[in-house]
Amino acid sequence: MRRVNAPALDSGGLERALEQLRAVVHGKGLKSSGVRDAVARAALQYEGHFTAEELLTELRAQGAADTHAATVYRVLPLLVEAGLIQESLLSAGQGHRYERAFEREHHDHIICTSCKKVVEFEFEAFEVLQRDISEHLGFRLTGHVHELFGVCKNCQRAT
Ligand SMILES: [Zn+2]
Ligand SMILES: [Zn+2]
Repeated sequence: MRRVNAPALDSGGLERALEQLRAVVHGKGLKSSGVRDAVARAALQYEGHFTAEELLTELRAQGAADTHAATVYRVLPLLVEAGLIQESLLSAGQGHRYERAFEREHHDHIICTSCKKVVEFEFEAFEVLQRDISEHLGFRLTGHVHELFGVCKNCQRAT
């Protein structure tokens, strides 16, 4: 078992991600859009997990004051489809959260129910077991969301 961290994307990574997005956008016959690219950049550079609202707040803080919530809601699924971000922390409540998926390794999450801290980890045995289970049930595994809940060390001390 090892903890996973997410080194920030450098400018080269950001360009590669935007190229990948453009390919998907063009494949759909959509035009490129500066606003879409701005949402993509903010999502790729967001540290940690975010809701659509949090991303909107970040965009506005960065000076894109006129960004509409509807735009963010429309762009996020496209970013997921392009493999730039993925949905995570599905069962944590308060809306879906997203995180960068581009040039990041697969990981699972454990969430402190008290302070909401999220720790990312990778445990190969989990991955192997999940493939075994799927195989036994006649499935070809295409993905999974594995979320653990608990109380972190700090919060245990506080009670
Ligand atoms: Zn905690
Ligand atoms: Zn994560």
